[in-house]
Amino acid sequence: MLKGVGVQVADYISQPRLMARLAQLAEFGALPHGGVNRQALSGEELAARAWLIDWAFALGCEVITDDCANLFIRRAGREDLPPVVTGSHIDTQPCGGNLDGCYGVIAGMECLSALAHAEITTLRPIEVAIWMNEEGSRFSPGAMGSSAFVQPQRLADYRHHQDAQGVTLQQALARCHQRFPHLPRRGTVPMAAFVELHIEQGPVLEKANQPLAVVQGIQGVRWYQVSCLGQSAHAGTTPMGDRKDAMSLARQMAQQLEEQAATLPADQLRLTFGRWEVEPNAINTIASRATFTLDFRHEDPAVLAQFDDWMQQIAADNVLVECVFSHPPVAFNAQLLAQQYACTQALQIDTTTLTSGAFHDAMHLASHCPTSMFFVPSHNGISHNPAEYTDPQYLYLGAKALACCLTELANQPIGVPHEHPHLSCLL
Ligand SMILES: [Zn+2]
Repeated sequence: MLKGVGVQVADYISQPRLMARLAQLAEFGALPHGGVNRQALSGEELAARAWLIDWAFALGCEVITDDCANLFIRRAGREDLPPVVTGSHIDTQPCGGNLDGCYGVIAGMECLSALAHAEITTLRPIEVAIWMNEEGSRFSPGAMGSSAFVQPQRLADYRHHQDAQGVTLQQALARCHQRFPHLPRRGTVPMAAFVELHIEQGPVLEKANQPLAVVQGIQGVRWYQVSCLGQSAHAGTTPMGDRKDAMSLARQMAQQLEEQAATLPADQLRLTFGRWEVEPNAINTIASRATFTLDFRHEDPAVLAQFDDWMQQIAADNVLVECVFSHPPVAFNAQLLAQQYACTQALQIDTTTLTSGAFHDAMHLASHCPTSMFFVPSHNGISHNPAEYTDPQYLYLGAKALACCLTELANQPIGVPHEHPHLSCLL
């Protein structure tokens, strides 16, 4: 069993300090009736950055930024090797909770505090990354910062994206860089590992009564839009046999896909018909056009390919099928997963495994360096909601596991090899 310096550092994780810092961060953009609204690069978010930067300097860390306003809080190592990185995001949904993303950042900072209190300097630097605009609720798409870090050429396109007020990302980035003119900027640098700690945002861990999961990967996803075409006509005068009812056709297509999906094992499958648009959308007119979207997720590329086939099979002259987004499944790094287990065993934390159904910054980092995640439970599976809650004891255990893991990884002279999981984003 692991009895190294990682366990020693984990003992310096302080639950009261962790909870106090989470509460402090939640004050930036706090909503009057609970919850947080802290949009990417907004005034509230820049104030939260200023607070984090002060904290970082107080810990003796260096703070670095990049063109896409990602922040890196760096605790120096004994040697200038590629860093071991953790972190997440501090932007929230318009009516979000105080844990999504924030927990990963604050727990990462708590690990740096623990190292300072333990008076331990690791071989490699350790960094806490704050990735810009993960939620995608101000600027679309989400995970802008992490995806632009991994593929810097994306930023040229992102710069023109506007928020609901017509502010471009370019303008918002300029405002951020003007606020923090003294931060050194860097480009994409090699990283020894990225380990993200996050709330599960689903009910599985709580139901299984498990405080922690080592996340095996992230499900692949397909987003399709299906438009069914008919002809609008009078609801009272058109006999049933003479109709070209787009809505009835759409319901048939959706039911057929649901039946096909039901033949797959249910535990990993996620199928959602989230958006419906009907034209002309009138009570007494037969629909001329019915459009619906599908969000299909699975961890097995063969199942995703099978689903693509089904979608092609329903395509016809009056059924238009369009794939609007696609991302392959991500398998996290096996050696990192083994390191995470060794840590949770040494710390005697009950640990299970899970595959993430949600996207995270780690999905993009996985193509850059060895990457993995930890999840802690979400009470009632609720997230993107002020009611987001995790038992403080679980938050504490997650931070301890992270501290152990970062310390152990940062003391390895030879980095974990990066098995390319594969994975190019199609959009
Ligand atoms: Zn998140």
